[in-house]
Amino acid sequence: MTTSRTPLIAGNWKMNGATAEAVALARAVAAGTAAGCELLVCPPTVLIPPVAAALKGGAVAVGGQDCHFAESGAHTGDIAAVMLADAGCSHVILGHSERRADHGESDALVCAKTEAAHAAGLIAIVCVGETLAERDGGETLARISSQIEGSLPAAVTAENTVIAYEPVWAIGTGRTPTAADVEEVHTHIRGDIERRFGAGVAGGIRILYGGSMKPSNAGELLAIDGVDGGLIGGASLKAEDFLAIAASCP
Ligand code: PEP
Repeated sequence: MTTSRTPLIAGNWKMNGATAEAVALARAVAAGTAAGCELLVCPPTVLIPPVAAALKGGAVAVGGQDCHFAESGAHTGDIAAVMLADAGCSHVILGHSERRADHGESDALVCAKTEAAHAAGLIAIVCVGETLAERDGGETLARISSQIEGSLPAAVTAENTVIAYEPVWAIGTGRTPTAADVEEVHTHIRGDIERRFGAGVAGGIRILYGGSMKPSNAGELLAIDGVDGGLIGGASLKAEDFLAIAASCP
């Protein structure tokens, strides 16, 4: 990495764990050291309060995995960004490919959620990534550009937003793109950000890589130019693995 962007290592716990397990995992992460990078864990919504309580006052931040675009109202089963903030979150993951696939989330919806996150004072981690068919069809960069264009509101800054490049075909599969492919996409995303938001935002915004990052490949992935950290799924469920990834930050 050639800039002073502080790497962010974020754990997406997805729909895993119960209270005791989640609190133990959070405590184990907090007990580790991660010099030179920021750490974030994103538990299932109902586990945010106990995890936030366990991490209170420490260096590990807490985030949600989704939020609604509205501030309140008749939206059964949903959670507002302001509620996440109130529960102790500083970040929220938005537009994860599993939400795009399982819940039909469009770029426009992700954009509205990102605005809601910003209004609540949360840092939005906006996910983009191509499917295997799109990669095989040579459509990766066009797909990423349209997701970036459609999912980001006008008020994006380097402080209120993080981008996560997550090739859909690499999530939970053990497969990862080549270093050259990751660098190409990250450079492309930063170019899109620069054209729309200016060089200052493009130079400061963090672009994470996500998709089967683990201790054995983290060093190589995190050293790629333009990669400013990782969004980690499976390997974030073991404190030892998550911390080993964090320790690989250049
Ligand atoms: C993810 O779901 O954001 C992710 C990167 O998962 P995994 O690390 O398990 O591929």
